[in-house]
Amino acid sequence: MNLMRDVLQVVARGKLSVFLFHKVPPCADPLLVGDLGEAQFSRLLDFIKETFCVLPLGDAVQHLHANTLPPLSAALTFDDGYPEWRHGAARVLEEKSLPATFFITTGQFFGRPMWNERLAYIVRVCTEPVLDTKAIRLPPLSMQTSKDKANALHALEFHFKYLPPIIRDEFLEQLETQVGVSSSDVPAMSVDDLVAISNRGFEIGAHTLEHPILGLCDVDRAREEIGQTREILEGLINKPVTSFAYPNGRPGVDFSPQHIQMVKQAGYRYAVTTQWGVADSKTSSYQIPRFTPWGPSRPKMALQLIRNFYSRPEHLRDMA
Ligand SMILES: [Zn+2]
Repeated sequence: MNLMRDVLQVVARGKLSVFLFHKVPPCADPLLVGDLGEAQFSRLLDFIKETFCVLPLGDAVQHLHANTLPPLSAALTFDDGYPEWRHGAARVLEEKSLPATFFITTGQFFGRPMWNERLAYIVRVCTEPVLDTKAIRLPPLSMQTSKDKANALHALEFHFKYLPPIIRDEFLEQLETQVGVSSSDVPAMSVDDLVAISNRGFEIGAHTLEHPILGLCDVDRAREEIGQTREILEGLINKPVTSFAYPNGRPGVDFSPQHIQMVKQAGYRYAVTTQWGVADSKTSSYQIPRFTPWGPSRPKMALQLIRNFYSRPEHLRDMA
């Protein structure tokens, strides 16, 4: 452990590691392969706390550009907005006295849950042995075992991710009708959950209204997705919202320099991507890379972290 820390001290000088998490269900969910359950998440946080100086993301970005970053600095972030967070991830963070930023998709406060949660719900409640997906131009998907369901969800997510938002909604409604559910049945984060997390001292950041791929939106829709979500969040938590997470988050694939401009114009001070790697003093405040170590053992986590220091995140041209 000490040797590993010594190695990290050298490779991490002047660099900021930002970690990315999603739902953190109470137990690992067989449908969501790769999503950490609470026990594994807690072990991962212990490792991060022992290894890094964990700062609030905003403070870390300021230190980064002032060249005053403490050695082995890191920040913790969570994307999307899940009802599990309030009594799950946020409680575990509190027990370990760790700061974090939660990036929220706000459509779910107005009866529009995230598309991936709608898909997961369809797959979870489907009682047919096979899901007929002809109407959405996919081959039929077996639903017999939990492994079948996990594979089906993976195939559906892959198919839906890059659909234009209007078509994605149409297809979702078709599948919901087919299995006899409605989007209002899907578990979603409530305003109460949001305010509770904010009042416990965690930073709230914006993650659009409905989590579209910004590159698939027309200019007006992209501007709305970026700007309106900030106004909504500020109205709900009564605090300034200064950080933004790009949906899906890959520079040049999911967002472009035009979207970076929109994020700046909407008044955000910094933004995070999903590119692996670490930030240094030359990294744009609007393209901070993030990484999720997946473990499961400590030596494996250490190797994943060291490798992440050598990832070179792609950087888009960032006009001043
Ligand atoms: Zn997201």
